[in-house]
Amino acid sequence: MTGVQADPALTSLFRGGSAPLRSARQRAREEERATDVARRARERRVRRSEDELRALAEEGRALLHGSGVGADDEADTAAVMAWVTATFGDRIAVASSMADTVLPHVVSSYKPWIDVLFLDTGYHFAQTLETRDRAARELRISVVTVTGARTVAEQDEALGPELFRRDPTECCRLRKVVPLRERLRDYEVWISGVRRADAPSRAQAPLVAWDQANRLVKVNPIAGWSDEQVDAYLAANDIVVNPLLSQGYPSIGCEPCTSKVAPGEDPRSGRWAGQTKTECGLHVI
Ligand code: SF4
Repeated sequence: MTGVQADPALTSLFRGGSAPLRSARQRAREEERATDVARRARERRVRRSEDELRALAEEGRALLHGSGVGADDEADTAAVMAWVTATFGDRIAVASSMADTVLPHVVSSYKPWIDVLFLDTGYHFAQTLETRDRAARELRISVVTVTGARTVAEQDEALGPELFRRDPTECCRLRKVVPLRERLRDYEVWISGVRRADAPSRAQAPLVAWDQANRLVKVNPIAGWSDEQVDAYLAANDIVVNPLLSQGYPSIGCEPCTSKVAPGEDPRSGRWAGQTKTECGLHVI
């Protein structure tokens, strides 16, 4: 598996320079985005049936996994993205927690102006929301902020305050799992940044799978990337990064459920620290 390098020409097109130059680039960027939105509206086709999507997931697995998950002959990110874009056209969504923007950066280098779904639970760090806003301004992506049916205040009134302390699984279900599931009905495939190196529970993450819970194809194009490959990609490209990553938070979720992690500790040990919960329920491996 090899990582990919974003096209430096594309990256530099929209970054840096004087204020007037940045302003002109911003206008060019908005025009390009508007053109793509119009094209998508023109070319929009009917979403395939569940049976058709399930068959495509099987086809993708057979095509890309070689002799098995993590095998030497597994497809690289470029091959995965080539299959995704050729197979699903515009019915592709990317999910990003805005810890870093490696995944949106990688995917948009193959498919500019792709929809990047950000789940706004109402509990995010201010730095995470700023990272989302910077990514929307600087990357060639369309950020779609997804919220739950209730605001935090409405949830507090209906179910009592601080549900995340009493029942974090239900809190995650209401604020993450259900809103994402409803939003994904518009798409045929969703792309996540799950990596096998994230945690032992993700060690068998496939490149392509049928997502039974959300009833569409799920693709993890950087599943095989090591931490070193992510670091190399960050160093080689001008990536928007959540500043909390360098302040002791190697894995960033909602503020009440994310703690600092000491150097050398499991990076995900700061998520729901002191509880048995390790995943929010979005990723069933
Ligand atoms: S991570 Fe915590 S605050 Fe966020 S949705 Fe889950 S339980 Fe609620």
